[in-house]
Amino acid sequence: MTLFSYGCAGVRIFRESFIHLFFPNSCPVCGKLGTAGCVTCMTSLVIPLIAKCPFCGRPYPCSVHRCAYPLIAGNLHEGINRKVVLEVKYRNNASLGRVMGKALANKVKEFKNCLLVPVPLHRKSRRNYNQAELIAQGISEIWGNPVVDFLTWRSDMKSQISKTPIERRKMPENAVKCRTSNVKGKNFLLVDDVSTTGSTLNVCSKAILRSGGRVVGAITWTISAY
Ligand SMILES: [Zn+2]
Ligand SMILES: [Zn+2]
Repeated sequence: MTLFSYGCAGVRIFRESFIHLFFPNSCPVCGKLGTAGCVTCMTSLVIPLIAKCPFCGRPYPCSVHRCAYPLIAGNLHEGINRKVVLEVKYRNNASLGRVMGKALANKVKEFKNCLLVPVPLHRKSRRNYNQAELIAQGISEIWGNPVVDFLTWRSDMKSQISKTPIERRKMPENAVKCRTSNVKGKNFLLVDDVSTTGSTLNVCSKAILRSGGRVVGAITWTISAY
């Protein structure tokens, strides 16, 4: 029995298996092979939440934290949106990052005249790419805003992954620093995959503020309930 005995279905299965061999990714929404994710499918996962205060998760503007900036998340960190984060973070699916960024940019319209600054990858991370930077690049492809990657973790900071939410909130204010002095007077939008406690976004924003820059907001694929 040959492949052609199976007719069109056999040819389709063979073609898809062949593609999968060399392009093992598939769209997390429709399952289409050979793509990290269809932009249309991924855009359907983005239902931007109301702007929140990154310090406490209350609606923005926050009556408690008057220095806060608006944090807009594409959705809650649950279901398929959470799976997408796990895929890009822990299953080496780097190509998904740009698609996530394009999907976010298709739905979020608030921030246009600013530079996109990704939250830095921790120094000890085994990942050979920064998913936040890939998301920023995807946003940049739609909005046209440049990506500027100048934030870095202080060398003695431990990874945030193993920390509890309480430990994360106790991070020193200077946990992140700017590698450039060319920040003063410019507007920045922080970009990350997920905001869990807001602590990482906040040490990033403090680094920018110390260098004389302005943080106009933050955008993440998902947000956990604080
Ligand atoms: Zn799809
Ligand atoms: Zn607040």
